[in-house]
Amino acid sequence: MDSNDHKPAPARRRFVGTVAGGLAAVAAVPAAAQQADPAAGQPPAGRAREAASRYPRPPFQNQSQPWPGLAGKMTPRPDHGETTYRGSGRLTGRKALVTGGDSGIGRAAVIAFAREGADVAINYLPAEEADAREVVKLIQDAGRKAVALPGDIRDEAFCRKLVAEAVRQLGGLDIVVNNAARQHSTDSILDLTTEQFDWTFKTNVYAMFWITKAAVPHLKAGSCIINTASVQAYDPSPNLLDYAQTKSAQVAFTKALAKQLGKKGIRVNAIAPGPIWTPLQVSGGQTQENLKKFGEDSPMGRPGQPAELALAFVTLAADESSYTTGQVYGVAGGAGNP
Ligand code: NAD
Ligand code: MG
Repeated sequence: MDSNDHKPAPARRRFVGTVAGGLAAVAAVPAAAQQADPAAGQPPAGRAREAASRYPRPPFQNQSQPWPGLAGKMTPRPDHGETTYRGSGRLTGRKALVTGGDSGIGRAAVIAFAREGADVAINYLPAEEADAREVVKLIQDAGRKAVALPGDIRDEAFCRKLVAEAVRQLGGLDIVVNNAARQHSTDSILDLTTEQFDWTFKTNVYAMFWITKAAVPHLKAGSCIINTASVQAYDPSPNLLDYAQTKSAQVAFTKALAKQLGKKGIRVNAIAPGPIWTPLQVSGGQTQENLKKFGEDSPMGRPGQPAELALAFVTLAADESSYTTGQVYGVAGGAGNP
């Protein structure tokens, strides 16, 4: 489950340095990317089944990190598919932007996209540079181009710059994944401040709107948008009053926009995960008490790992899903969806 035992096929890469300022960029242009080496970065077959059979169950040890948290500091480390996801060219030549691509569910989508043949730009917060560096390397190891675009998506001007930079550095855009989110557990509405309410809505709803609005003019027929919603949209927890509302908003946004963009051939779908073992949960997303038994209530008796969502993202992005739009794909271990 650790990324260190992953021995990818060697890929030649060029590392373009970090640009200081609001939009720092690390771009890698692997020569191998153009030669489509299907073996690049691919783990041996059979690994995924083995990994799933030993996924961790509660009780989990106490742990807490300052927001936004790092996957690299979690115990146990989440499985994002580093040693297991095998691609088969389903997204060859595609160009994707994934917010929150450094860790958790976003990282799992990024690894899968790259191993399916896509070039990928990731957005994350500057404090997550350590996680992001690992992801940049994983994209490069798959023989694809990696573009790192750190910055805070609560800022509309940054969201516009983010999309413009992704388009410029990738040479176009045809997959947009709005996956970044803020989740902060608060037991009572009386303790829910306007500042927190605003923070959650800015990150989860406004940024999705701003990024999508900036991206749509660049998307051609066959492109798609995937939003990471949640079971919280349908079965909200009492301590996630603000967050759950944003997840419902994302579902409505997905369905309405799918109707707007259908005739243009642009598909819009969402994924609704259940409890997944990610930094969001250990950096204020859950109480310590909930964290210890995280996933226990799921019919599977454990939380999902980010790797278990990867194929859902690939499926929704792939051309074969060309008649699938306005849908919400649940990956919740058996509970919580409509
Ligand atoms: P995560 O912490 O790995 O990912 C969330 C990411 O959001 C962070 O990595 C960070 O880069 C990004 N982010 C947060 N605020 C930001 C800001 N202001 N500017 C830029 N980036 C910012 O956790 P995750 O659980 O993988 O979360 C990914 C998505 O999955 C979120 O939309 C979350 O709501 C959703 N989700 C998670 C679970 C779960 O149990 N973990 C369940 C359902 C849905
Ligand atoms: Mg992160």
